[in-house]
Amino acid sequence: MASFKLFLLPGDGIGPEVAGEVERIIDWFNMQGIARFEIERGLVGGSAYDTHGKAISEEDMARAQAADAVIFGAVGGPKWDKVPYDVRPEAGLLRLRKDLGLFANLRPAICYPALADASSLKRDAVEGLDILIVRELTGGVYFGEPKTITDLGNGQKRGIDTQVYDTYEIDRIARVAFDLARTRRNKVSSAEKRNVMKTGVLWNEVVTRVHAESYPDVTLEHVLADNCAMQLVRWPKQYDVIVTDNLFGDVLSDVAAMLTGSLGMLPSASLGAPDPKTHRRKALYEPVHGSAPDIAGKGIANPIAMIASFAMAMRYSFGLGDWATKIETAIANVLAQGLRTKDIAAGGEAAISTGEMGRAILGELKKA
Ligand code: NAD
Repeated sequence: MASFKLFLLPGDGIGPEVAGEVERIIDWFNMQGIARFEIERGLVGGSAYDTHGKAISEEDMARAQAADAVIFGAVGGPKWDKVPYDVRPEAGLLRLRKDLGLFANLRPAICYPALADASSLKRDAVEGLDILIVRELTGGVYFGEPKTITDLGNGQKRGIDTQVYDTYEIDRIARVAFDLARTRRNKVSSAEKRNVMKTGVLWNEVVTRVHAESYPDVTLEHVLADNCAMQLVRWPKQYDVIVTDNLFGDVLSDVAAMLTGSLGMLPSASLGAPDPKTHRRKALYEPVHGSAPDIAGKGIANPIAMIASFAMAMRYSFGLGDWATKIETAIANVLAQGLRTKDIAAGGEAAISTGEMGRAILGELKKA
């Protein structure tokens, strides 16, 4: 039986509540002998700061490095708003992304038919929507140097961010996108701003070359990032996989997120380069939402984004894609039965708790 090391970092706020529902599913997989998951637990974010005085300890970083996958809840909250910048809760997540080399961020936007009316778009535009945004996560304008604010001495200041990409960074993210497209509807849309940015010109050039050299069977289209945003809110179903840089990916994936209704529904995966020997990639799976301090401790958070993130781990880290699909089908089934947590309940609909939603999904999974 295949055996995997999971490192669980539930974090703060609703993080531990939604991560608990994933543990329920993992326990069941272990009991059924579907795979053997060894779980280690650590602290990240505010909870790590309270214990270690930093957003993640060196011991927990080492555990994250040794794991087959990191399952991450959420970090942050008003309690830690005033802690020093370099030990703020988010620094734990940024450190994990950086040290594990997680350069590819995958955010699917799937609209379950039962929730199509919760979208800001009309039902026919979103029902059955299934797109995947592949965002470059470790380069570009968020990390480029110089990154400064300079006092010009005349009452003015100058802020500088630097958008910078090297060929290898574009090459490897393009390959992730093309590989994923082959497992889906075989189409990649590459979004940049080649009309006004040199990094856009290079992005376009490298994606075109990678396509011609290695993926001629995949359909490739180039789209300007601003047009892509417009198309996403007009007719998102035209897309399959969208590959884009860090900045545009940040924005486009939030646009795509809103098409599906609620933050509580959105999973994500962040992947590193494959290990040359084992071919396994370092990976971190997390819901897109934050720690939701407004509802933390009430037992009403929606665990679906967290559970769907674990489904992505089954697919991308453990080679158990059939079980990933079964988890996703279990989610679709409970929604079709009308079960709703508060965030996705329409006016007048009764809402169930985090635990009830988790148990209902596991119940459906047991029937699969
Ligand atoms: P948030 O995602 O935590 O919450 C936004 C709104 O969505 C809130 O009303 C919340 O109740 C609701 N919501 C979010 N997830 C939900 C769920 N699973 N079920 C039901 N409702 C849900 O974003 P925010 O309020 O801007 O940030 C709160 C804290 O989280 C801040 O400290 C922020 O820095 C942090 N944050 C962390 C991450 C992360 O850990 N990756 C991401 C975003 C924000």
